[in-house]
Amino acid sequence: MKMNEYQREIIVRLLRDIKERSPFYARKFEGIDLSSIDSQEAFESLPFTDKSDLRDAYPMGLAAVPEKEIVRIHSSSGTTGTPVIIPYTKRDVEDWAVIFERCYRMAGITEEDRIQITPGYGLWTAGIGFQAGCERLGAMAIPMGPGNTEKQLRMMEDLRTTVLTATSSYALLLAEEIKRRGIRDRLCLRKGIIGSERWGEKMRDEIASYLGVEFYDIYGLTEIYGPGIGISCDYRNGIHMWDDYIYFEIIDPKTGRNVPDGEIGELVITTLRKEGAPLIRYRTHDLTRIIPGECPCGSRFPRIDIIVGRTDDMIKVRGCNMFPAQFDEVVSSIDGATCEYQVMIDHLMGKDEITVYFETSVPEDGRDVLEQELVEKIKSKMGVTVIPKAVSEGYLPRSEKKTNRFFDNRY
Ligand code: ZN
Repeated sequence: MKMNEYQREIIVRLLRDIKERSPFYARKFEGIDLSSIDSQEAFESLPFTDKSDLRDAYPMGLAAVPEKEIVRIHSSSGTTGTPVIIPYTKRDVEDWAVIFERCYRMAGITEEDRIQITPGYGLWTAGIGFQAGCERLGAMAIPMGPGNTEKQLRMMEDLRTTVLTATSSYALLLAEEIKRRGIRDRLCLRKGIIGSERWGEKMRDEIASYLGVEFYDIYGLTEIYGPGIGISCDYRNGIHMWDDYIYFEIIDPKTGRNVPDGEIGELVITTLRKEGAPLIRYRTHDLTRIIPGECPCGSRFPRIDIIVGRTDDMIKVRGCNMFPAQFDEVVSSIDGATCEYQVMIDHLMGKDEITVYFETSVPEDGRDVLEQELVEKIKSKMGVTVIPKAVSEGYLPRSEKKTNRFFDNRY
């Protein structure tokens, strides 16, 4: 995607004094003449910032303002121990509320709504972002935080909650409980804002139709404000990203080079306005793609696809990047296939071959059609031809872990 003139100007200005403001970037960009970075091409030559760099800056090494200007910190937990601390200035906190309010408006939520906030509050950024955006919009916040389903449902009913905000797994749990108790008719829910974890279309549609709500996927990460840097619209065809607050790129995670629009790769974000901890070319490790063209909703904000996975999941076969999640989606979309499948990648006669085993309840003489459907769907989705093998139910070994469905036997 082309860097627009507005973004270019902000980035040139940002780079002009980043070394003076931020000891972190003074070190990172040592020996690089930032005044020569004045085009998209030049910008793409700058080194990336990765989570490990942020971790090394613990506790306050990311700060790019004097300490008295920092009004809050948030922290993303690291699986490796040392957390990452992100300092926010007053303006950063306000900016976050501004873009979050935009998210609510994109989802058709107004000051008439009553928003039940179930993501957690605290060091992690989720809950407080939902709250600040809600108050800025002028809607009523019901700040529940996670857990205590009994109380959640009571508040939802008594306070006539119209909007549920939740992770997809918690939305599922609440929906099941509402169904079990048969209390849907007593609720006023009309919309759901769901954190963009990857979740099956099937499950999502089921919950949405049961609850009678429309779902919107919200995207964000603690290192860049938190949730709220993008959201899906009524057309549900990707996530509109607020490109006046962030500049984003999609790169090949292996080579670090930018990929053409439409191709899957890793999302890389540069903050355009952050004061407390500006980030330049930050690798999110989230895999997605730019959706080319205009959205029918008329919004001018560019779109990325729903996150398809993490870079660690990526596998390259015959020059084509692919992810276990994509096979998952295809198999679950085939009528007559159970959700059990296995993908084998082998190197035979100098060529990579992908074999997809999937279970079906269909008798043997009717399996050709299913196999054909699988091949066509994978070809159109991922651009590769696979060898399909429909097998009887119970044929494949069961496993709790999704990753155990994938066997790369090439190395
Ligand atoms: Zn749209």
